[in-house]
Amino acid sequence: MQLSRIDLADLHVPTAIARAIFAQLETIDAPVPVGQIARALDIADIKTQVFDGFEGMLLTDTVRSAGSILANTRYGDQRARFTIAHELGHFLMERHKLSGDRGFTCKAQDMRETRAGQRQYRQESEANAFAINLLAPFKLFDPLLSQDPDLKDAQRLRDHLNVSLEATIRRMIDRREECLTAVWSRNGQVRYSVKSSRFPWITCKRGERLPHLSLAGKIVANGAKGFSSVTETNPLAWLSRSDVELFEQTRVANNGHAVTLLLADLADADDDEDDSGSLKELNAGFSISASAFPVTAWAFPVNP
Ligand SMILES: [Zn+2]
Repeated sequence: MQLSRIDLADLHVPTAIARAIFAQLETIDAPVPVGQIARALDIADIKTQVFDGFEGMLLTDTVRSAGSILANTRYGDQRARFTIAHELGHFLMERHKLSGDRGFTCKAQDMRETRAGQRQYRQESEANAFAINLLAPFKLFDPLLSQDPDLKDAQRLRDHLNVSLEATIRRMIDRREECLTAVWSRNGQVRYSVKSSRFPWITCKRGERLPHLSLAGKIVANGAKGFSSVTETNPLAWLSRSDVELFEQTRVANNGHAVTLLLADLADADDDEDDSGSLKELNAGFSISASAFPVTAWAFPVNP
């Protein structure tokens, strides 16, 4: 594989860099050969094994005269592929300031970072945006989406693209137009959530039990592995408002891990706004109570 790093030098937007790499490749099939791409872009060495204390490391200098990547395989090869792509992102975005004398050291939390405020957060967010756009380009991702949101799509895409289920669920939320949230839990306790920008606040906090009114709570307690169907649920199980049609679907995996997809149909609420103009007021009231219960709001930067 031959790629020119010089042709990428003037690009600073993660999606544009990923697109420019694909433009240099004549064809691209799933799964994207991230190791080959990294080596063709002057990464001399990629080491994948179990490491302690970090998820990924890029050994380099400020002008990126050379680069080596270390990727932790403790949580599987699919996550390590994302890590390699993330570190390649730091390598290609030369404006990213080194986090230490020898390059970049990235933790598991950095691989979920989406905040854009402080430089350190922004750098990690950009590396993540680059990674998902390299590993799950629209062309390979979108054709496998069903007409309606379904966690089974994320599992199929995980196998197709050889990336983690978490990454494909995040990508699905980013790519679909519907209002979606995914809530990850373990042994019935909320770990974190990812939501599309228009989704209302959900009222359960990290570390709390799944809501007792929710179907997810019952499905997880039952313990049967696999997918539930997409079923309408009581909006007050998850939200502090009842003017939303809410659907949920849960996938139960091994070791108490589960993920629940929430789909909000805001059509009725939007109609109310058109009819009376009162939604703004209503939302303002709710935002006061909802702001006391935020779970992580996560979304990839909007694609240009
Ligand atoms: Zn990083």
